[in-house]
Amino acid sequence: MNSAPKAGLHPRNRFNMRYDFPQLIASCPALAAFVKPNAYGDDSIDYADALAVKALNQALLRQAYGLQHWEIPPGYLCPPIPGRSDYIHHLADLIALRRGPSVRVLDIGTGANCIYPLIGASEYGWSFVGAEVDAAAWRWAQKIVSANASVTGLIECRLQKSVTQCFRGVIQPGERFELTMCNPPFHTSAAEAAAGTQRKLRNLGGKKAGLNFGGKANELWCEGGELGFIRRMIEESVDFAPQCGWFTTLVSKSEHLPRLEQALRKVKAAEVKIIDMAQGQKKSRILAWTFAEVRHPA
Ligand code: SAH
Repeated sequence: MNSAPKAGLHPRNRFNMRYDFPQLIASCPALAAFVKPNAYGDDSIDYADALAVKALNQALLRQAYGLQHWEIPPGYLCPPIPGRSDYIHHLADLIALRRGPSVRVLDIGTGANCIYPLIGASEYGWSFVGAEVDAAAWRWAQKIVSANASVTGLIECRLQKSVTQCFRGVIQPGERFELTMCNPPFHTSAAEAAAGTQRKLRNLGGKKAGLNFGGKANELWCEGGELGFIRRMIEESVDFAPQCGWFTTLVSKSEHLPRLEQALRKVKAAEVKIIDMAQGQKKSRILAWTFAEVRHPA
């Protein structure tokens, strides 16, 4: 990796330096076809080209973690690895850097890409349950896990049968999780999701508008959008307080925070944290809450 760290990423994020493309191409020769000099003469790829980003991800996952087999079905969400890693490192901070499979993490909406369990199992040896409501994505995630021996024993994928539930139907009686995490669907309708994808492509340079890069519409929207999804999650979390340490979720729109904090006061969360994250210009945050004091009275 190269000189200057990328702005805003977590200090333990191993993708926080400029990419060393020759080395990445050595791990994934298919990447070579997509690497071209950018406006500054540095090696880069076209981040609006889903196939290029997929090849970059394959190279990064191979080089960093030895994960040889990572694919996504056409049209499904292709995640930026540095941003996804940041969430994992902030979670590690939340549990004082505990490592190993006794740290059990529940990923709500793991996607076909299964990206959080792959990174968390590889970085910290945590064990994961990845819950997913889209049956095709769930099957695909299982395929990725069984193809990569280093994580096979650490990740289990479970099908959630109801779009309006997060924990119910997934967490089993007597089961305990240290952490739950989620990158929620954030649009309020399929049309809004499609418009968002077009906007994102235009911002990335535009030429490939029309290409389905940002994910299948049903990955990206749900009833009530991000706010609705997280409010349902907060309400449901009360019933699972005895079984989970920290509940967490990404919140992409900061204007949603006041209403979410209000919802957390209503359910009497013992502690609430907002952890800011940034990747270049893009800002995001993790909302974390626990009922731990309620669970363990002195
Ligand atoms: N974690 C992946 C995918 C996020 S997209 C990533 O960060 O790239 C959101 C995912 O949540 C989609 O795969 C969608 O199908 C799934 N999803 C939506 N509602 C859900 C629910 N109630 N329970 C589980 N998964 C859900």
